[in-house]
Amino acid sequence: MKVNYSKCGYCGACVGVCKSMAIELIENKLYIDDKKCNKCTLCMIVCPLNALEE
Ligand code: SF4
Ligand code: SF4
Repeated sequence: MKVNYSKCGYCGACVGVCKSMAIELIENKLYIDDKKCNKCTLCMIVCPLNALEE
């Protein structure tokens, strides 16, 4: 998963939905750990700003 930082509004919705705890929101920056990500795409589905890409 990749974040398009020009679209992300740092709402945290993707963090809450990720069961693998692969996404962290720290000081208005979003970090995705590809080693933890299982490609379930839930974060893409919930993102209101369409900021996540495979
Ligand atoms: S849900 Fe979308 S807009 Fe919200 S923090 Fe995640 S990537 Fe950014
Ligand atoms: S695709 Fe699934 S496991 Fe990967 S970051 Fe998104 S919600 Fe988490």
